Amino acid sequence: MNYRDVLEKIRLAFPQPVSDPIHDSYFVHSMMRALDQVDALKTHLPILGTAVPGDFAAARQTNLPNGMSSVEDVTANLVSYLQGMTIFGHPRTQQNVIPPPTIPSLIGVLIASLYNPNIAWDEYSHLVALAEVEVVGMTTQMVGYDPEQATGVFTFGGTGTTLYAVKLGLEKACPETIRTGTPEDVVVFVSDAGHYCATNIVGWLGIGTDNLITIPTTDENEMDLDRFEQEIRKALKNGKKIAAIIATLGTTDAFGLDDLESIVRLRDQLVDEFKLDYRPHIHADAVIGWAWSVFNDYDLEENPLGFRPRTIRALAGARRRIQHLSLADSVGIDFHKTGFTPYISSLVLVKNQADMDLVKRHPEQMPYLYHFGEHRPGMYTLETSRAGTGVLAALANLQLFGEQGLRGILGHIVEMTQLLREHLEGHAGLTVLNRNNFGTVTLFRAYPEGVDTFSIKQQEFEDTTYRESLLAHNAYNQEIFDYVHSEAMEGRGIVISTTDCYRQTTYGEPIVALKSYILSPFVDEADVQTVVKKVLEAREKLGR
Ligand SMILES: *Cc1c(COP(=O)(O)O)cnc(C)c1O
Repeated sequence: MNYRDVLEKIRLAFPQPVSDPIHDSYFVHSMMRALDQVDALKTHLPILGTAVPGDFAAARQTNLPNGMSSVEDVTANLVSYLQGMTIFGHPRTQQNVIPPPTIPSLIGVLIASLYNPNIAWDEYSHLVALAEVEVVGMTTQMVGYDPEQATGVFTFGGTGTTLYAVKLGLEKACPETIRTGTPEDVVVFVSDAGHYCATNIVGWLGIGTDNLITIPTTDENEMDLDRFEQEIRKALKNGKKIAAIIATLGTTDAFGLDDLESIVRLRDQLVDEFKLDYRPHIHADAVIGWAWSVFNDYDLEENPLGFRPRTIRALAGARRRIQHLSLADSVGIDFHKTGFTPYISSLVLVKNQADMDLVKRHPEQMPYLYHFGEHRPGMYTLETSRAGTGVLAALANLQLFGEQGLRGILGHIVEMTQLLREHLEGHAGLTVLNRNNFGTVTLFRAYPEGVDTFSIKQQEFEDTTYRESLLAHNAYNQEIFDYVHSEAMEGRGIVISTTDCYRQTTYGEPIVALKSYILSPFVDEADVQTVVKKVLEAREKLGR
């Protein structure tokens, strides 16, 4: 076959650069067919199609096909890869911090892929670059930064947001590190409930995981401030430089909220006391908690949206910490968590543009880019190419929801979470572990008949003589989970998850917990009742 014949087929597989109404509708039609095929995978189950195990050994042997395929064949094949996917928006899914994306955010991703803007430079992205700045503007206002001072960029995930923060902090503590390399006497602080990406980041930045100081957390899953003060004083006395203090506002497993206000106060006091010539950078890892800032000025007394009293209390409990986000030097935001967009849509906000300037490169280092144009974040971003997908998805949802919509959707899932806890606590054999965390994740444990659930939590937590009991109940909860999960896969019940280590006991054993993470706006009261019903049923089945 002459290559010209092949080219003919190839050209048909691209959207036409110049309007061709027949081909344009072929393109739209191809999309619609793909979506139809995906929709056909929906059943009453909370997954698409049926769960088929992947053969990873065979997958490694995959070869490039010889000839071309048609758009139609490729589409059908692609759709088959969605078999078994959890439907995160399903009312019977309460699995993890993975949201269902909205229609406008999906359209944002689609059109940003269609014309492939690169937001490194406005020359290559035009108004999509402006969209990034608008999202920075909106979130700056939400968290309470000064729009004249603040800046921000989208990056490759929540991990990327913390990476930027630690890098900026490192440059502040040890100027010129970017040129001379990372010195040895640098430390970073995070709580033991903070995200493990901190370990990754200090490793990859050359600070070293040995120099990540992990502070224990209180029963409320927040950084123990006395321990923090001890550790930071010790580090300063030993002449260490502090690259960053990572405060977590919304821990992944429990929605613990660090006391940012006190952390900042202590930092400022120590800067004076130790006469530091830099101000240790404080980063708020609020990739989960940021969205709660829409409640900063919600009238909890008047309660115009009509939330229940327990919900109001939970919103107030979160606001107590979230309202101080503007005290942090930088804030991490994941729209792909509590902003209901597809992956990846993450933004790091930096309170002072000057901090970001510390990692700016010289134009001579990038001879092929940035000769003109007005907006060139590529001068300082870690990434070179950056997609517009996350930006348009985020912008779509901020416009779609507005403050009222975000309050509505978050308020609803908080309300469902509170209802779940109320129902769980109505049973003697069940107990909620993170009662004083006010997000949408609930960690709970089931105990066999005859166990005194009023005292057992504390005993297993701090008394070594309860080790056997703790381990037996860990296994018990695993069995409960297995039953609830297999029932859900049969269309009876709800998909929840477990955590192997909610916390460690004082004597170093992991506490296994059942976990409900509510992020679907479709979850309603009947669904949370089903969770309780299925767990009780599992308890009965286990017969103990
Ligand atoms: C999810 C999460 C991260 C990591 O974010 P990614 O977007 O997965 O890279 C960091 N911190 C917290 C608290 C998280 O929950």
